[in-house]
Amino acid sequence: LAQTVAQHRDQPAVTKDGIQVSLQMNAGLNIEHGKEQSGFFDGIGLYRTEIPFMMRERFPTEAEQRDLYQQVLSAFEGQSVVMRTLDVGGDKPLPYFPLHEDNPFLGWRGIRLTLDHPEIFLVQARAMLAANIGYGTLKVLLPMISSLEEVDEAARLLNQAYFEVRNELVQQHPGMTLERPQLGVMIEVPSILYQLDAIAPRVDFFSVGTNDLTQYLLAVDRNNPRVASLYDPYHPAVLRALKHIIESCQRLDKPVSVCGEFAGDPGGAMLLVAMGYRQLSMSANNIAKIKWIIRNVQSSTLQVLLTQAFKARHPSQVRRVVNNKLESLG
Ligand code: PEP
Ligand code: MG
Repeated sequence: LAQTVAQHRDQPAVTKDGIQVSLQMNAGLNIEHGKEQSGFFDGIGLYRTEIPFMMRERFPTEAEQRDLYQQVLSAFEGQSVVMRTLDVGGDKPLPYFPLHEDNPFLGWRGIRLTLDHPEIFLVQARAMLAANIGYGTLKVLLPMISSLEEVDEAARLLNQAYFEVRNELVQQHPGMTLERPQLGVMIEVPSILYQLDAIAPRVDFFSVGTNDLTQYLLAVDRNNPRVASLYDPYHPAVLRALKHIIESCQRLDKPVSVCGEFAGDPGGAMLLVAMGYRQLSMSANNIAKIKWIIRNVQSSTLQVLLTQAFKARHPSQVRRVVNNKLESLG
């Protein structure tokens, strides 16, 4: 099997009957390593900017951030790179910014923290915009959005950063223009599922974070071993939420990708493609495997699988249905 997977490495992810799926990489460190390992794919679907923040002893300066983001854009020149604004808090503390909360996952994390500290958000946004000069491939993604106000406030700050960077650029290089990156919102807090109509006109794309969406939909701390067995993206409620999201995005004509672990899980990827998702972003080591699966199925097979999965009443039944299908693929 390893050999046949390797043979498909540099081929596009297309089902046997011609449905194209765009596969992208999730990254935080080791950009180059992922690139070598995975063969052909369509850029970075999620760059977790908090990882380099977590590796340091203090906040990186604007210049340090700009250099770092530029390295990423340069490594993937010509391909789109989705950079998520700082998503600390919850399970991702910064050693130099201690947080003590009883419920960190329901607390001050992601966009909530950076909107309360606009200077952190603005410095990061300026660094991203400046890094994008000469590349033009940057897309900006907002984590942990739960309300419309947060989208508007983040867009306002991004706009401010845009004009600041543009004015500096024009002073140094009259006549140069600054690209405006596309703006996207993570779908990972359940409240967003019922606000997609209102958010869609304000953004260019959505990206589904199945890790947090599963945790918040099922009210299960994704890192607590006591309840770990209840954390399951194959839960019928999670599958219905994912179906609601793709149907809404199709109706609203907004691009949507999935960047949570479910996209890099063989059964998860099959169900997502069956639902209609056409963009999946995953860690580098899953890309070749998911590509192989996509290249070896027919969409009619996926539809049968999806129907069976939606008839199941328990996560374990869904898994059984999916595993049977995977076994039949080899
Ligand atoms: C997610 O929540 O699914 C996601 C991709 O973000 P993270 O795992 O970084 O919280
Ligand atoms: Mg998340």
